[in-house]
Amino acid sequence: MSCKCEWESNEEIQYFREYLRIASVHPEPNYAPCVEFLRRQADQLQLPLAIHHPFDAANPVVVLTWQGLEPSLPAILLNSHMDVVPVFEENWTHPPFGAEMDEEGRIFARGTQDMKCVGMQYLAAIRAMKRQGVRLKRTIHISFVADEEMGGRRGMRPFVDTAEFRALNIGFGLDEGLASPTPEFPVFYAERSVWRLTFKISGTAGHGSLLLPNTAGVKLQYMLNKMMELRKQQVQRLENNPELTIGDVTTINLTRLGGGVQSNVVPPLLTAGFDCRLGLDIDHTEFEAQLQRWMTEAGGGIELEFDQQHPYVPPTATDDSNAYWLAFKRATDELGLTIRPQIFTGGTDSRYLRRVGIPALGFSPMNNTPVLLHDHDEWLSADTYLKGVQIYVKIIHNIANV
Ligand SMILES: [Zn+2]
Repeated sequence: MSCKCEWESNEEIQYFREYLRIASVHPEPNYAPCVEFLRRQADQLQLPLAIHHPFDAANPVVVLTWQGLEPSLPAILLNSHMDVVPVFEENWTHPPFGAEMDEEGRIFARGTQDMKCVGMQYLAAIRAMKRQGVRLKRTIHISFVADEEMGGRRGMRPFVDTAEFRALNIGFGLDEGLASPTPEFPVFYAERSVWRLTFKISGTAGHGSLLLPNTAGVKLQYMLNKMMELRKQQVQRLENNPELTIGDVTTINLTRLGGGVQSNVVPPLLTAGFDCRLGLDIDHTEFEAQLQRWMTEAGGGIELEFDQQHPYVPPTATDDSNAYWLAFKRATDELGLTIRPQIFTGGTDSRYLRRVGIPALGFSPMNNTPVLLHDHDEWLSADTYLKGVQIYVKIIHNIANV
């Protein structure tokens, strides 16, 4: 297929665009139209649908289930999130919830890449298989969750701890990846641990005309120097080894500074906030102990507060020990796709699956496509979308027959 009229009349493109037109957008996404749309999809596919509320009534988790031939085996989870990030409409050349298609077949809408595409491609792949009369060994659950873009606190994070989730008996999960501007497809098998922390630095207060000992400013300088030295080491690691991606190293960024009374008063308190993403090579206990040592060396009187302190989560194995990985890899090999396993830069719901011991891969079949998630004019081409459906047919077929 190659012309706009053919894409426009394609059933799967129509479903995709319909889903994109639902503005399930932060800060207050209304998921009810998504649930209603998914209900119609479930009817069309003749699959049972369940709705769970692991956080509250406004944040549903919708699960469609395709039962396998051996339903006692651990099942496959195909996860996507229904929410999308806000838009600055004045910066878009097309309405962000219009799902307009241009002559080249590019569909413009918030969520085309992140990640309404993937949710609909799962369903399209299952529709294609069901029409071919395919039956798979393992049960497949297709989940549509809320709140991923706000960190999953109202979605996947509480969901994995519910009895309803445990009853799904998940053995392996697929979730979102990223578009790739090259022919390669990235596959994400791990994520770094997010630590958002604030140093609350107390010191001798007094008049700005003096040279008082142990001021908050002097201690702040010490802490900033230590944190920035660490940052520099990581920048150098990346520069020295072209094999490394940003997900392989620890990132440290000063994100907030606070304090002060007026310019001629030495303040009793200054605060410095950092966003840290701990690489998989970091020992968390040792890292925190090092921060504590620096706080002491700086002169004491410093408190360490965490907004977030995510635990170490082991990566999903990408070797012979993981039969699901082998099945995934066999699918991409048979399709002639070049994949590049790597560690995700940001955070996705996969971390919550891995945290409860479920292997998970992040994969969005969008190669030769600029990375536009969270950006203005987010788009995905109809051709790439439909190729992605075929890729999922093969992958789902393989992993559900492990
Ligand atoms: Zn996403």
